[in-house]
Amino acid sequence: MLEYLLLFLIVLVIAYLMQEVVNFAFFLPSFFIRDKKFECLRCGKCCRKATPMTEEDMKLIEKHGHKRKDFVRGFGPFKTFKKKNGYCIFLGISDSKATCSIYPYRAKACRDFPFKKIFGFELKDWRCSSLKK
Ligand code: SF4
Ligand code: SF4
Repeated sequence: MLEYLLLFLIVLVIAYLMQEVVNFAFFLPSFFIRDKKFECLRCGKCCRKATPMTEEDMKLIEKHGHKRKDFVRGFGPFKTFKKKNGYCIFLGISDSKATCSIYPYRAKACRDFPFKKIFGFELKDWRCSSLKK
């Protein structure tokens, strides 16, 4: 029994480290576009990716009447928004513009995107459509 628990913990740590490596790899191209001007186009592309959620994010969303089981998927430190048709379930489109139905209390990662500080550098996530113009 203890062996299984240990194995599970090792798998969890490896998965977490892999996630960090993938995150870093995603941000490598960002070094080359860090001076590009950002202006949100409301394309909704960032609502397709797996946005990480903290406990505080989930509590805040719950406070506004949403049940955790309805919007959270994943386990342990790998919690993200549930999706519908490939997009976050809170995303709607109106007048061809992406609209977040929980905008005032969306997750911190949503509020920060496409900015992220890595090793002291203020970077922009190259996956953002605004930075590809
Ligand atoms: S991908 Fe960039 S431009 Fe598109 S909605 Fe997200 S932040 Fe705005
Ligand atoms: S919470 Fe809003 S901003 Fe964040 S991924 Fe979902 S729709 Fe996009």
